Amino acid sequence: MESIAKAASSIGILGENAVELTCPRCQCRVKTTVRYRPSIKTHLRCLLLSWCLCCFLPYCMDSCRDAYHFCPMCGFFIGVKKF
Ligand SMILES: [Zn+2]
Repeated sequence: MESIAKAASSIGILGENAVELTCPRCQCRVKTTVRYRPSIKTHLRCLLLSWCLCCFLPYCMDSCRDAYHFCPMCGFFIGVKKF
């Protein structure tokens, strides 16, 4: 239960960029590895921008994609910051 509570509190501070936190699994103080993946909203923004030929932009901007945070030590999936 304690590790779940810690994980939940970690998720609250997750942003678009890597953050320093204590991994709920290995208990190491780490800076998260962030992988960006396009979300439904990225595709919607792409559609909105298609009229001005900028539709590829949301796919290039980290702030327009979901940020998945992983522990670099054990690879544990810590949480996701939804765009
Ligand atoms: Zn870890």
